[in-house]
Amino acid sequence: MTPEKRIQRALDQGTAIHPQYRKEFSNGVSFAWSRVPWTLGCCSMWTEEARKTHYKTLCAVDNRLVLAGEHASYVGCWQEEAILSALDAVTRLHKRALGAA
Ligand SMILES: Cc1cc2nc3c(=O)[nH]c(=O)nc-3n(C[C@H](O)[C@H](O)[C@H](O)COP(=O)(O)OP(=O)(O)OC[C@H]3O[C@@H](n4cnc5c(N)ncnc54)[C@H](O)[C@@H]3O)c2cc1C
Repeated sequence: MTPEKRIQRALDQGTAIHPQYRKEFSNGVSFAWSRVPWTLGCCSMWTEEARKTHYKTLCAVDNRLVLAGEHASYVGCWQEEAILSALDAVTRLHKRALGAA
């Protein structure tokens, strides 16, 4: 869709829930994350196969390298999981620093 069409679609969908949506709307911006070089999307997507093969390795503490973020979680594209991933990574790092893992 063109940016204008995307905004119209969003207005249509919003109106289905909030009838006053269009009346209160003043401005809109539409952005295709998948077309941004180096980003190519707004968050990570795992296939079942990739998850099975690579997820544990991605999340493992590797010497001084520890990854955390929405990409290292089971619910991608969400702040909650990014935070839980960070807490998990810090907890594992702490255990390792104490020599427990
Ligand atoms: C359009 C959009 C709408 C969203 N809406 C919601 C929503 O409504 N609710 C919700 O819960 N989540 C939403 N999300 C998802 C949420 O924003 C992300 O899941 C969350 O921000 C991911 O946190 P993160 O710490 O994993 O990564 P980020 O927040 O992406 O943090 C990564 C950081 O690393 C920095 N960085 C990258 N490369 C380097 C480098 N080489 N050196 C140093 N720094 C670097 C980046 O600049 C960035 O600050 C949305 C995301 C997008 C894009």
